[in-house]
Amino acid sequence: MSLLTELYQEIELCHTCDIAKARTRVVPGEGAENADIMFIGEAPGFHEDQQGRPFVGPAGQFLDRLLALINLNREQVYIANVIKCRPTGNRDPLPTEITNCEHWLNSQIDIIKPRMIVTLGRYSMARYFPGKTISKIHGTARKEAGIIYFAMYHPAAALHQQSLKQSIEADMRKIPELLAETEAIPETAPQPQQLNMFEV
Ligand code: URA
Repeated sequence: MSLLTELYQEIELCHTCDIAKARTRVVPGEGAENADIMFIGEAPGFHEDQQGRPFVGPAGQFLDRLLALINLNREQVYIANVIKCRPTGNRDPLPTEITNCEHWLNSQIDIIKPRMIVTLGRYSMARYFPGKTISKIHGTARKEAGIIYFAMYHPAAALHQQSLKQSIEADMRKIPELLAETEAIPETAPQPQQLNMFEV
């Protein structure tokens, strides 16, 4: 059994947060265990909760089209979320839920060892670009311990707003070049963790 499959079995048993009681399926993540690129979204929505798979609703279909822009499909990358259970009524994740779920995401990163982590939206951005505002830093990258962190808008936000749609498509197209030029990106200092979403 692969390390990821073992991890998924452990995640399925997790009932640390109240939202675990209301879930239909837990949504650990999916994709290649040896993926170079890992996309991290926010939390499962209705469709993800039904299917137990990340980004399978309208935002996910848009993410598939964005991946196709750089000749990739979802089997070639890894897709996960900051939290693994659907927040009740699709509300924003709570800071306690993010903290409780953090070790699962850290384990996924340890197993996959991606060369690049792409944050989709504010919640995953807060992990790697603390205190920053998405409208200011989307499409920018930093490198820490050899891993490129790249911030993008959330596909759900960009889906219905033409200007954001153009931005997210332009940002997606930067990914191949960033990966090809990893060595040229300067290292930045480790960022302190920040979970207070009211500041971003
Ligand atoms: N939005 C997310 O952030 N993640 C999903 O899996 C689906 C929608």
